[in-house]
Amino acid sequence: MESARAKKSLGQNWLRDEAALNYIVQQADLDDSDFVLEIGPGRGALTQKLAEVSSQVLAIEIDQDLIAILNKIQAHNLKIEQGDFLQFNLDQLPAGYKVAANVPYYITSKIVQKLLTAENRPSKIVLLVQKEVAQRLAAGPGEYSVLGISAQVYAQVELGVIVPAESFEPVPKVDSQVVILNPKNRFNIKNEKVFFRAVKAGFSERRKKLRSSLAGGLHLSKPEVEDLLKRARVNSDLRAQDLSISDWLKITDQLSKN
Ligand code: SAM
Repeated sequence: MESARAKKSLGQNWLRDEAALNYIVQQADLDDSDFVLEIGPGRGALTQKLAEVSSQVLAIEIDQDLIAILNKIQAHNLKIEQGDFLQFNLDQLPAGYKVAANVPYYITSKIVQKLLTAENRPSKIVLLVQKEVAQRLAAGPGEYSVLGISAQVYAQVELGVIVPAESFEPVPKVDSQVVILNPKNRFNIKNEKVFFRAVKAGFSERRKKLRSSLAGGLHLSKPEVEDLLKRARVNSDLRAQDLSISDWLKITDQLSKN
């Protein structure tokens, strides 16, 4: 494969480990009816393998310098598009499409958010991300963050294998891990706004107990928050990271009634 100097500013770390590349493809569970979107194909290591086992691959790469290299991949079912994934309109993709990618780490959260909140959401998302981010996405009560809650309210999140830093060229500072997101039913948009307002308020002061963090973030008095949490049957002595998704949904229900 031709070489291209990796650009740190674009999060370019080429995955060189065949087993890891095959694992990502296998987790995407592809067959000849699947349309796959790849974000950041780089020099095409994953792209080629995706094209071998799916019906159609669309790979979106921001770096113009890589397009000539990618265009040399011999696959009749591969389309390369130069552009910024964050500006890409997902509505143009066929329903039920899948996503597989070793993503640029500097925009991982934005990529996850865009995919999970899109009107036309993928049916499956397999991403190789920084290990700490994978673990935050999949974290349970006690370790939740806004990122973890945001992902898990839209998708069932599973952790895959860890891919050590040495599997990449150039070698990054941190290990990576595969994360598999299986989108689930959405809830209605009105509640969605309230939900994120509450979650963000709760996590804005994560060391404080819920009664204080929510009062500050939602501009309510402490007695109002106590009452709200009582109606939601959530203990006001807990901290945001201790609440389950269903606790946040119960708080959302009560807040929506206010
Ligand atoms: N898939 C390749 C691999 O596994 O070796 C490359 C992965 S590299 C971690 C991330 C790739 O995403 C780079 O090729 C980078 O140029 C590209 N990229 C960065 N920002 C992007 C964006 N906003 N939209 C599309 N591609 C982007």
